[in-house]
Amino acid sequence: MRLSQMLFVTLRDDPADAEIPSHKLLVRAGYIRRIGSGIYTYLPLMWRVLQKISQIVREEMNATGAQECLLPQLQPSDLWKESGRWDTYTKAEGIMFALTDRREQDLALGPTHEEVITTVARDMIRSYRQLPTHLYQIQTKFRDEIRPRFGLMRGREFIMKDGYSFHANEESLKATYQEVHTAYSNILRRSGLAFRTVQADSGAIGGSASQEFMVLAEAGEDEVLYTEDAEYAANVEKAISLPIDAEPSPFTTYEKRETPGTDTIEKLCNVLKCSPTQVVKNVLYEIIYDNGTTVLLLVSIRGDQEVNDIKLQNELTKLAPQYKAKTILAMTVPDAESQSNWAAKSLPLGYIAPDINDVYIDRKKQVDGKFLRLVDKTAIGLKNFVTGANESGYHVIGANWVEQFKKPEIVVDIRKAKVGDRAVHNPQEKLESARGIEVGHIFQLGIKYSQAMRANYTTQEGKEKPLWMGCYGLGVSRLAQAAVEQCYDKDGIIWPVAMAPYHAIVCILNINDDKQVEVAEKLYTELNKAGVETLLDDREERAGFKFKDADLVGIPYRIVTGKSLVHGKVEVVKRANKEACEVAIEEVVSTLKNWIDQALK
Ligand code: ATP
Ligand code: MG
Repeated sequence: MRLSQMLFVTLRDDPADAEIPSHKLLVRAGYIRRIGSGIYTYLPLMWRVLQKISQIVREEMNATGAQECLLPQLQPSDLWKESGRWDTYTKAEGIMFALTDRREQDLALGPTHEEVITTVARDMIRSYRQLPTHLYQIQTKFRDEIRPRFGLMRGREFIMKDGYSFHANEESLKATYQEVHTAYSNILRRSGLAFRTVQADSGAIGGSASQEFMVLAEAGEDEVLYTEDAEYAANVEKAISLPIDAEPSPFTTYEKRETPGTDTIEKLCNVLKCSPTQVVKNVLYEIIYDNGTTVLLLVSIRGDQEVNDIKLQNELTKLAPQYKAKTILAMTVPDAESQSNWAAKSLPLGYIAPDINDVYIDRKKQVDGKFLRLVDKTAIGLKNFVTGANESGYHVIGANWVEQFKKPEIVVDIRKAKVGDRAVHNPQEKLESARGIEVGHIFQLGIKYSQAMRANYTTQEGKEKPLWMGCYGLGVSRLAQAAVEQCYDKDGIIWPVAMAPYHAIVCILNINDDKQVEVAEKLYTELNKAGVETLLDDREERAGFKFKDADLVGIPYRIVTGKSLVHGKVEVVKRANKEACEVAIEEVVSTLKNWIDQALK
């Protein structure tokens, strides 16, 4: 391609809405253009990058025996109601674009395709002889993200590869899951990226085991906790650890103390001269379940620990049947205004004890009259602890479970693991932290969807059984940008060879020099013929301007027709390290082919 004929516009300044380097660079180098919030045009250079990634994905997926297909983006609501996810996706997470057609039928634009594929499987799979089977697609997904940002990293319209496998039993599911794990690792390795596989929370998709593939980069929205011995790595949402030991309590007798102005743990510990590990803090939440029921939740946790919202949400979803609900719609720490919806009298916020009386809750319709009390494991082992006295300005010290506070019925692990904690598998190992960009997520779904949607098969013995299912997502457009986030310098993008839109760019130093033009044209034609994807910068611009653009766009190899032509040579510069050398004109094609082959190994 000749730059003179391309719709090619680079910008000298960073776009105002871009916060992270990869976003700035992709816009400045002419890869993407913003059309609306979270909506982008993939310009020709970007489209080539996306095609390259898609091709690597295809090769690795096909190698596992998976087959490519294309599922509809427009999805009838009936399917989502059958799986029980319509409300979760349109109300709770609210991430699905839903619409009503001219026949008053509800539809949605696909954020993911478990429902569609399970419908296909239900219709087509009859017998164990058809199993296992694995389909995938590469397609645009739609999600009404709360905070679309960072360009292609979190779009509202983006490209995903998603795959779904069906099995007769769990062993078969596990085998395919492992194959996909290998395929994804190959994809990222071939793409030239540094990544880490971590244990992950399954979120609204559901199911049991799941792992994420994280491209390591400072701008990553995810925090990964891992140990140096490589035995453990998890998304912070899912991570477990051993908290530091609690310091023995200095308080030996139970007493109520006046502690004015101590509505935070820090202030309290200053006044009482104790450690936060000796405090049981009680955090109040307001939960709204999908059937409209409001539940007031009191979480008791050790004072130095934080609640992991994802773990808490998972516990609350497990408890949903107790409230005749399926899922939670909202979970907030109530402010004064929202308290007026359910409080019978004003609560001693900041001074609440684990046994705060249910009379604080106004008994009315849609509000459960009893506090749901969850106690984190860190709080349950404490002796002679400090906690609120249910009276503003007062705490109790030297308190104990059973003696002063009823033994909690529901003990859970909802604390946030953090850097510096000891690892569970080996307390000698400490958790370390890294930032990551989640580019892939694989799940063993089990029989959740097939059971809900009655997708069964007949076993060898003639019995009807639900299909075992796995699902595997990879963010193609996010991966492209993640690569930039990992590979750039002050001058621009440094594409790994495997996903660069072109391998080489021939820059004509002086467009008015016939000899230069002739050699450049010849190299341009020969390189492309030999399979080295090459651009020709034949614009009537100064050399410095052309070099700046070439660096910004990030093409791996730049060939310059300049002074050395008199010796029958051209200058070749490697973008990654700016290393320059002179190569005889007739050796350019073989040299580049060689370098590219090496880079793609
Ligand atoms: P996140 O936690 O980042 O929102 P997710 O858990 O919702 O991701 P999945 O539903 O597992 O993501 O989707 C599979 C893959 O699709 C993700 O690993 C990610 O690479 C990509 N992806 C998800 N949401 C977006 C988005 N809004 N924009 C771009 N890519 C996305
Ligand atoms: Mg998401």
